[in-house]
Amino acid sequence: MLAYLEHFVHEKDAESRQDDEVASLSRALELQASIDELGPTGIASKDFGGIKSVKPLAMIRPSSAVDVARVVKAAAASPSLTVAARGNGHSVNGQAMAEKGLVLDMRALEEPFEIVWIEGTAYLDVSGGALWEDVLKRCVSEVGLAPRSWTDYLGLTVGGTLSYAGVSGQTFRYGPQTSNVTELEVVTGKGETLCCSLTQNSELFFGALGGLGQLGIITRARVVLQKAPDMVRWIRVVYSEFEEYAGDAELLVEEVEECFDYVEGFVLVNSDDPGNGWPTVRLDPEQVFDPIHIPSTAGPVLYCLELGLHYGNADDPSGGRVDMANLADVRVPTLPQIAKNPSFSGISKCQLLYHPLNTDVDRLLRRLRFIPGLKFQTDVSYTEFLLRVKRVEEHAKASGTWDAPHPWLNLFVSKSDIVDFDREVFKKILKDGVDGPILVYPLLRTKYVTINCTISWSSIENHKLFIVMVVPSYSLLLRTLSHPHLLPPRCIRPTLGVLLQSVVVPDSDIFYIVALLRFSPPPPKGPPPELLVAQNNEIIQFCTTRGLDFKLYFPHYHSREDWMKHFGKQWTRFVERKANFDPMAILAPGQRIFSRTS
Ligand code: FAD
Repeated sequence: MLAYLEHFVHEKDAESRQDDEVASLSRALELQASIDELGPTGIASKDFGGIKSVKPLAMIRPSSAVDVARVVKAAAASPSLTVAARGNGHSVNGQAMAEKGLVLDMRALEEPFEIVWIEGTAYLDVSGGALWEDVLKRCVSEVGLAPRSWTDYLGLTVGGTLSYAGVSGQTFRYGPQTSNVTELEVVTGKGETLCCSLTQNSELFFGALGGLGQLGIITRARVVLQKAPDMVRWIRVVYSEFEEYAGDAELLVEEVEECFDYVEGFVLVNSDDPGNGWPTVRLDPEQVFDPIHIPSTAGPVLYCLELGLHYGNADDPSGGRVDMANLADVRVPTLPQIAKNPSFSGISKCQLLYHPLNTDVDRLLRRLRFIPGLKFQTDVSYTEFLLRVKRVEEHAKASGTWDAPHPWLNLFVSKSDIVDFDREVFKKILKDGVDGPILVYPLLRTKYVTINCTISWSSIENHKLFIVMVVPSYSLLLRTLSHPHLLPPRCIRPTLGVLLQSVVVPDSDIFYIVALLRFSPPPPKGPPPELLVAQNNEIIQFCTTRGLDFKLYFPHYHSREDWMKHFGKQWTRFVERKANFDPMAILAPGQRIFSRTS
């Protein structure tokens, strides 16, 4: 089979008898999968960014992890073939492409989709090619459960977002999506199919999370679930001063216990421009954004804090809500009871806190310094809330901006530099907007760290008990250690081995995600994409020359020096992991970090 593949590759280089050879490749690989979509018009040569296009050799639709492993092994046996897993192709710089290589359409991998219960916590075992929107719909409708951490838009695959981080308004509480999986099945660059977790093949586990697809192809992920709320109170409040906006947003995300369930925010142009300005704030067409409330001191841009509070209609018809955060976080063994019994009977009252919704919202909003008169709110179902960007997609498809080029820029900027960034970038370079959302909201660095915590506990009788705990953050570890019902703190001698995911973020404890989500119409109606790329570069240049503590999210670089700078002190470990799991650099060539070797 392998000799045949090499022959095939040489033939392909001569661009002859393409159709026959693709069929032969399928036979040679003994795949259950199908092979198709060759050429520059096929989806494998395109992505959401619409700026890069390269021609692969073939696109393969694997039906199982076995197919994925066969393809990788075959590529490894050839002199130069590479393999790119393609999730939903929502990259913007060709990261899921493979020039003259094999593209795996991961959406074809439908299984597994299975709820598993382990020691009182529910998990979803799901295919790396599943779309998050399908995960949401099936989990909520079939078992009333849902993942804790999301992205804003859910037309992305599980493996695609886990290869970066997966960030949204829940990240301040639960960490990115990469901090909410406990096990992966990965096909490495050697074609081995390995199960990995905190305690098994942990270098691969942490390396693959945020690993830009470099170490392996995620064929299955085990995602932590919690009870899905019924409803979300969705609120937007507007600020004219960045310092007040940022101060309030930081206050909210730091007080995880006493906070909304969702915290995000965006910049808007201080104008009635329908794409960039005031009309983007209302949550209901009936609501009015009255500019009379804007102080005369306001600058060229305003800031909108976007908040969400979960509640359950069915549980408390009077409009009260159950505070689930503690239960879900420390994973006390009542979670399955809660999931199976929506009325919560049989669960001790002291574990459930009932709050009237409006009192909660008022209490949380009272501390914030937004412009009085510029508060908007609505109530939507949990599913509708999480699918809110689907409506944007439909609108953009109708207007032609979904299929236009998207020169997006995503950055993480540290708290200490965000005021500088606001002054130069939001208020000057982007004062006219970007024809789409400009997100800016704080995240906590501790939520990106996963801890391997082995606690050795000596009892009075001098018996030793070893417990391995999986906790997604330092703060949760500290809370768990001091939890009176779990472990008596004075007896604990914790030894911590901190293992980092591959996700790269600034050093500061709080940093902001800044996302320029451009939806300009294609030229000649809109600006040429090159102009927008140049504006992105101007912003990166500003951050670099001013020495800001920042990192690119969805990084794309062309030189090894830039990649080394990006990874910083994580570079050596990343290179070692690459050498261990994909020594010939077969995987994810579109990231342009390593070159294929024989
Ligand atoms: P692809 O673009 O197909 O692949 C991305 C990279 O991952 C490639 O290198 C690919 O080879 C690799 N890869 C794909 N699947 C696998 C796998 N199974 N195993 C290993 N490697 C794999 N991101 C956020 O964090 N938060 C958001 O709110 C958010 N919103 C977005 C909204 C829109 C409209 C768009 C277009 C993007 C958004 N993103 C967001 C960015 C998104 O997370 C990334 O673009 C992500 O890569 C898209 O996933 P995908 O499934 O399309 O991956």
